[in-house]
Amino acid sequence: MQAFQVRKHGGPEALEWLELPTPELRADEVLIEVRACALNRLDLWVRNGVPGHQFPLPLIPGSEIAGEIAALGSAVDDLETGTQVLIAPGLSCGVCDRCVAGLDMLCPKYGILGEHRDGGYAEFVAVPRRNVLPLPAGLSHAESAALPLVFLTAWHMLVGRAKLAPMEDILVHAAGSGVSSAGIQIAKLLGARHIFATASSEEKLAKARALGASHTIDYTRENFARVVREVTEGKGVEVVLDHVGGKTFEDSFKALSWAGRIVICGATTDALASINLRAVFYKSLSILGSTMGSQAELRTLLRHVEAGDLAPVVDRTLPLADAPAAQQALEEREVFGKIVLIRD
Ligand code: ZN
Repeated sequence: MQAFQVRKHGGPEALEWLELPTPELRADEVLIEVRACALNRLDLWVRNGVPGHQFPLPLIPGSEIAGEIAALGSAVDDLETGTQVLIAPGLSCGVCDRCVAGLDMLCPKYGILGEHRDGGYAEFVAVPRRNVLPLPAGLSHAESAALPLVFLTAWHMLVGRAKLAPMEDILVHAAGSGVSSAGIQIAKLLGARHIFATASSEEKLAKARALGASHTIDYTRENFARVVREVTEGKGVEVVLDHVGGKTFEDSFKALSWAGRIVICGATTDALASINLRAVFYKSLSILGSTMGSQAELRTLLRHVEAGDLAPVVDRTLPLADAPAAQQALEEREVFGKIVLIRD
């Protein structure tokens, strides 16, 4: 099969288009013919490498996959070839205490397709049976592939961790990112009152408003904490959704209300931030970390997608062979929502 593989970390040239063997199936695995695979910032980390972190190279990137069942492992007797499917990106053991408690994203053996084993930048991918879900009704392969990692991440941040309640106010950073474009929609679904969203251009802010943001802030021109304070008459927001980190994180604290919660799933700009601990205890603030979410949460949010409450945000689709150009667009942040690689 044809696939992009990272054999050695580096720039765009590290994503190599190669002829590789079609994956062999273990008894409990399913072979998927990939029809669509969405990009994530994780793909860039896999390609570039992360200091102090070991990826299992050589590796085929790609975490969000939709396609068709091409073959079944010998122990899989409840699926049929030809079925259209969406692949849950989280890998877990299924038998440890956390897995059986429904907290599979906290499994000691947790991994993500395209990070810990081969992903979807390929014609075929082998995945465990437990990761195979039906394609959401009414959605294309490309739309479906734009969902599982980013919507699950945003859902767990706001529902599982921050517990955003009706009529609370929220600030969502970097509205053009996949997680944030999902987060705005989830905040609206949960009944948030003011949904503030930041971005760097009027074009992105207009798209954020279309998704449900009630107040949009060009962070290159305005201080978001000041806008939040003005609109909420000094109260601040109960929840901040952040994955930018660094300086933004410090300012986000100034935008929080009493008993406010800041929930983070990444630190794209800088992992170091300084915070005023006096504000943390005096105002009863919470700093919540969040990574992915459980497969049970994914199944719940997919029901909301099928009901029309939540919708994937596809910036553009490109042929699989254009993965290097797609990664460049993501790297340069010329994107609102998801870039999806497709195969006809
Ligand atoms: Zn486990």
